[in-house]
Amino acid sequence: MEQKALECPVCKSNKAEIAGENVKLSGRFEDKEFLTTDLTVLRCVRCGYYMFFDKMAQFTTKES
Ligand SMILES: [Zn+2]
Repeated sequence: MEQKALECPVCKSNKAEIAGENVKLSGRFEDKEFLTTDLTVLRCVRCGYYMFFDKMAQFTTKES
């Protein structure tokens, strides 16, 4: 399993809260519609930046 040390790419904070689980994103690219796999959305508690991860990712920081 993949392990990630969580770090916000904007402010380098390692604190984030889960903003959503099993989120699918849809969109359009060159007249084709796409839908992503289930994603976990984390939101940086310091700057509010949203980070998206697929379900296979595991985090070293967890909510207790
Ligand atoms: Zn941040």
